[in-house]
Amino acid sequence: MKNYPLIIDGKEMQAVSGECYRPINPANNQEIAGVASAGLEDVDLAVAAARGAFDNGPWRRMTARARGDVLHKLAGLIRENIDEIAVCETENVGKPISSSRGEIGAGAYTFEYYAGAITKFFGETIPVSGDGIDMTLREPVGVVAAIVPWNFPFCIACWKCAPALAAGNSVILKPATCSTLSAYHLVRLAKEAGVPDGVFNLLTGHGGVIGDALSTHEDIDKISFTGSTQIGTRILEKSAKGIKRVSLELGGKSPNIIYADADVERAARESVMAVFDNCGQDCCARSRMFVEAEVHDVFVNAFVDQLGKVKIGDPMDEDTEIGPMVSMAQRESVMNYIEIGKSEGGKLIGGGIPEGAAFDNGAYIIPAIFTGMTNAMRTSQEEIFGPVVNIIPFTDEATMIKEVNDSVYGLSGSIWTRDISKALRTAKAVRSGNLSINTNSSVFVEAPFGGFKRSGTGRDLGMNALLNVTEVKNIFIHIED
Ligand code: NAD
Repeated sequence: MKNYPLIIDGKEMQAVSGECYRPINPANNQEIAGVASAGLEDVDLAVAAARGAFDNGPWRRMTARARGDVLHKLAGLIRENIDEIAVCETENVGKPISSSRGEIGAGAYTFEYYAGAITKFFGETIPVSGDGIDMTLREPVGVVAAIVPWNFPFCIACWKCAPALAAGNSVILKPATCSTLSAYHLVRLAKEAGVPDGVFNLLTGHGGVIGDALSTHEDIDKISFTGSTQIGTRILEKSAKGIKRVSLELGGKSPNIIYADADVERAARESVMAVFDNCGQDCCARSRMFVEAEVHDVFVNAFVDQLGKVKIGDPMDEDTEIGPMVSMAQRESVMNYIEIGKSEGGKLIGGGIPEGAAFDNGAYIIPAIFTGMTNAMRTSQEEIFGPVVNIIPFTDEATMIKEVNDSVYGLSGSIWTRDISKALRTAKAVRSGNLSINTNSSVFVEAPFGGFKRSGTGRDLGMNALLNVTEVKNIFIHIED
């Protein structure tokens, strides 16, 4: 069994304590690897390495183009190693292998995008009221801690690390406790591509221990976090004293709005994976479905029919579309919500644990559809983070919009209608950071991604992400008469 080390100052090493732990493959409940479990001393070592590389090393002093060249090389190495990393990801979190391969490819593209973007990201000259020229520079913020979740481990690590590295920062990557293997490959390949020692470090281990230490560490300048609203709140509290820069991509409870004049068959077909992709463990999962009453039954029948065609099973099988959940504990939490949905009076279609030897040892679950739900119910308000959808009928646009916005979250959502005015009116009224019209695709490397309300603050992706990892410096140059 392979042992996965920490990577600090360019060196692979075990934790100072010698401790390690063994993540479980959620498809078969088998241990897959040993992973070093960092403690406070390792955090100090990683921060010192990152700080030293930032203060004294070459990375931030290199031209943007030179840094871009290294990151382009890293993207190429990721592509060369795509199969190995994809297998790690699938064994680690149960994602279907085709999805893992797609996400590793998307990670490589994220590095390609920022390798090029960084030479197109610049300051301004400003016509100030003094005699001279005023200009701004965009400078790296310093040492960035990138803390990422387990649902899209490689992809989101790249969303955080690519812009931060491109801008000249030093980075400490902390993957979720259970999903560290692909992160190891990312940091290992970065060294091979030529990222200098100390610039990109990896800490694996207990999220609370490492996370609290990073959030309070004097030498961390910025926390770039994706995860739950609960931990995001904790990071804000812990980092307040040091006035750290913090950007947060948090939970969601996104709506999928189907008007009667939509292409209902297509909406039903595409909406299945809008909520059940990644076994529902998706911050953007459209888990509240608002369906106009006159097409409710047609939509639900088509939706159920389409779900019946989706292949649930072994994530290593190329044809599998939904694998197991990330862990037995996550499945238990979702099964509990299914019980809550039943007690709320919903009519349940599907749900439960699949039968058969192939499913015996894995964290498999049958997606659950609840009809007859209201937006006020607990299952409509809380992020379940599993394959459960509430279908909520509506008759009046204004009341529906009010309910859509009656959520602490505001991350994503979709609108289905053939009426362009209605589509745009709805899109303007919904308080979410990312919306899609007549499709469920709303995340692109080139476009900003992030949430309103308790879904977060700051934006990943696009040129916006570079704003998150840089400081603006204003310089005024006096001109003598
Ligand atoms: P989580 O909040 O439990 O963990 C996220 C990360 O925080 C992990 O690396 C974890 O180890 C770490 N962590 C744990 N304790 C910490 C602490 N005290 N200080 C700092 N970091 C700590 O989330 P999760 O279960 O890994 O992921 C699921 C959540 O992530 C869901 O709420 C989902 O909506 C959200 N998410 C959001 C986005 C987005 O872009 N908005 C994307 C994916 C996932």
